[in-house]
Amino acid sequence: MADYDGEEFENARKEMEGLVERSLQGREVKPNVLFAKLSEITKSAPVTKDLIRWSRQNSVWPMQFGLACCAMELMDFGSARVDAERKGYLLFRGTPRQCDVMVVAGWVTKSMIPEIKRLYEQMSSPKYVISYGECATCGGPWFESYNIIKGIDQVLPVDVYVGGCPPRPESLFAALMKLQKKIGGGIED
Ligand code: SF4
Repeated sequence: MADYDGEEFENARKEMEGLVERSLQGREVKPNVLFAKLSEITKSAPVTKDLIRWSRQNSVWPMQFGLACCAMELMDFGSARVDAERKGYLLFRGTPRQCDVMVVAGWVTKSMIPEIKRLYEQMSSPKYVISYGECATCGGPWFESYNIIKGIDQVLPVDVYVGGCPPRPESLFAALMKLQKKIGGGIED
C-alpha cells in the first residue's frame, strides 16, 4: 500500500478529529479533542462502553507468577498439548504493571501475603484473580498448618476457583474462559 501523502494524512486527521468530537458532544473538553482522554470518550456513549468491555474480555493478561507445585501445572499450560495460544492466553507478563489476571498457583504462606498483596496492587485495574488448585483455594493438604492460610480469598477477591491437587492445565484453560465470560457480563459474581 502506498504511503499517505500530505493531503490524505490531513483528511484522515480531520476525520479522526470529527469522530472524537462527535463522541464527546455535550461534554466539557479541552480544545485539542484529538488527544482527549480515552476515559472521557468511554463515558460518552453506551456503545463505546460495550466496546471497552469486549476489549477487556478478549485481552486477558496473566502474570508470570507461581508459589508451589501447582506452578508446574501452570508451566504445562504453556505446552503444545494444551495449545493455550489458540485463545491468546500465553502472553504471561514479567511485570504486574502489564497484567490484569493473577493466577495464584500453590499454597500461600503467611510470610508471602505482603508480597502477593504488593503484586496485586501493582497490577492494572480492573484486575482479576484465579485461585488455581486446592492449596490456593482452601489450604489443600496443609489446611491445618501453622503457616499456610486456608485460601487466597482470605486476602484477595477471587473471581474463579479451580479444584484439584494438582489441578489440570486444561482446568486453567476453562477457568480463563469462565473469567472472560464474567468480564463480558455473562456470569454474575
Ligand atoms: S494443590 Fe497439590 S499440587 Fe497444588 S500446590 Fe497444593 S499440594 Fe501442590
